[in-house]
Amino acid sequence: MEPNQQSPQGSLFGRLSYFTDMLAWPLRTSHYLELVNPLWTTHALQARVEKVWDETRDARTLTLRPGLNWRGHRAGQHIRVGIPVGGMHYTRTYTISSPPERDDGCITITVKAHPGGRISSHLVRQIKVGSYLPIGLPQGDFTLPDATPVRPLFISAGSGITPVMSMLRSLIARDRLPHSVHIHYAPHDYDVIFG
Ligand SMILES: Cc1cc2nc3c(=O)[nH]c(=O)nc-3n(C[C@H](O)[C@H](O)[C@H](O)COP(=O)(O)OP(=O)(O)OC[C@H]3O[C@@H](n4cnc5c(N)ncnc54)[C@H](O)[C@@H]3O)c2cc1C
Repeated sequence: MEPNQQSPQGSLFGRLSYFTDMLAWPLRTSHYLELVNPLWTTHALQARVEKVWDETRDARTLTLRPGLNWRGHRAGQHIRVGIPVGGMHYTRTYTISSPPERDDGCITITVKAHPGGRISSHLVRQIKVGSYLPIGLPQGDFTLPDATPVRPLFISAGSGITPVMSMLRSLIARDRLPHSVHIHYAPHDYDVIFG
């Protein structure tokens, strides 16, 4: 689905839930649907971890299937991810590393475990396939211009490669990748995410 396309609230489902909400009061239909499948909720957005993939010794890509409220993203945008750890709820920001053109309804985030970092280490080492994570809608203006750049230069370091990867993948998916240069900094060859 493209960004800003009609949300589920404007759909037949949305109109139906207007009536079922009256029966569900003081909660909403969405709260009951959440008990069946957290991805069906419309009062909050959740994503299911579909796959985990180790990129390097300390960076992992998580494939997430967002719920019904997802509206698509632009290459380069980021999302807020809620992570429960030890009875506490934390929120961190991660750039979507997959292109908007991906057609299985999933997105990926690629997380590097920071030494001493509380949440990134948990995401890289502990999160299991089948977990549900609350996510926010995509944000950020660091995106490709509508007109394809003629000779783009990308410069990144460490996990900062994630928006560049989404942009390059998007250009490739649209068959619009121009002659490009990408300079990336990492301590060692084996630390290069997507290397
Ligand atoms: C727009 C945006 C996009 C981002 N995209 C990505 C992405 O695609 N991939 C990615 O991996 N990250 C990304 N980040 C960074 C991410 O949001 C987290 O900041 C990162 O994962 C670290 O979180 P953490 O909880 O592990 O670290 P935290 O626990 O929050 O700590 C962060 C750092 O501070 C140090 N630190 C913590 N406490 C102390 C202290 N008391 N004294 C001294 N130092 C301390 C830690 O060692 C660690 O290095 C992005 C951030 C932004 C703002």
